[in-house]
Amino acid sequence: NRPVLEVEKLRVEFPTRKGTLRAVDDISFHIDEGEVLGVVGESGAGKSMTGTAIIGLLEPPGRIAGGEVRLEGERIDNLPYEKMRRYRGARIGMVFQDPLTSLNPLYTVGFHLTETIRTHSDLSEKQARQRALDLLSEVGIPAPERRIDQYPHQFSGGMRQRVVVALALCANPRLIIADEPTTALDVSIQAQIIRLLQRLCREHGASVMLITHDMGVIAETADRVAVMYAGRIAEVGPVQEVVKNAQHPYTEGLMGAIPTIGGTHEDLVQIKGSMPRLTQIPSGCAFHPRCPKAFDRCRRERPELMPAGRSEAACWLHDPAEKGRRRGNG
Ligand code: SF4
Ligand code: MG
Repeated sequence: NRPVLEVEKLRVEFPTRKGTLRAVDDISFHIDEGEVLGVVGESGAGKSMTGTAIIGLLEPPGRIAGGEVRLEGERIDNLPYEKMRRYRGARIGMVFQDPLTSLNPLYTVGFHLTETIRTHSDLSEKQARQRALDLLSEVGIPAPERRIDQYPHQFSGGMRQRVVVALALCANPRLIIADEPTTALDVSIQAQIIRLLQRLCREHGASVMLITHDMGVIAETADRVAVMYAGRIAEVGPVQEVVKNAQHPYTEGLMGAIPTIGGTHEDLVQIKGSMPRLTQIPSGCAFHPRCPKAFDRCRRERPELMPAGRSEAACWLHDPAEKGRRRGNG
């Protein structure tokens, strides 16, 4: 059972006058078929950057400086622009925080959908319109026959995000990347969109990479979760494990906060201090200045992900040698 998405030692860099900034630093993860992987962390942790690197939409001068991205086994990090453009939409669907990123206010909802459907299939105009109607009703838009010829501004925020989800599904993508898909929505609507993504992922066999700062959304939606900090993965594991049995001190801090839908950014982190700027990533474990459990080695050596309970964590506390030493000492 091959993963739909494999990311291996992905590195994203930005050359600046002051030197090269590393926004994503050698991260590796995978998403299996039909799986929802939540990617969570404070803003600036590199979540969105990871998503945009995967879909080939990094804004210059940002660039992939190392590693590989594979979609169903095929490398996509080094594809020619045109080919990658076709893959977006066809094999990878996208849902962003602001639906108007994906919708042109000058075109009807039906136009968006039928154009996308026809780009990625050989359906006739009439067939494409029928498919568009089906998709609209599948994402829960009432009276699609009436709504299809309306413009984006005639839809509420929640309904617009449903349209974007329908748009992302037009070509039956293998992977959907959703970046803060519910952040701009009312709490009650958030839950609906989340359930919609979940259901569609199951029914269409697509995999979802769900990027959010909201641990509540992750807890309700994801199968596994990757916690990012300062451009790295701090912890990755089954969602219930990570929520109930955090293995990385940073995750523990995150979980000290409210795991319910609608938790705000301020609620997220109960850890003193803030995430370092990219220009000032601390040596060793980047979390050490904030970590209540930091010890000498943390300041000198950078931990990689290692087995920790039923998850993996990039933390020296889980190094077998460290555990042995601690037992020996005490
Ligand atoms: Fe804390 Fe050290 Fe673990 Fe980093 S490696 S999280 S500083 S204990
Ligand atoms: Mg972001």
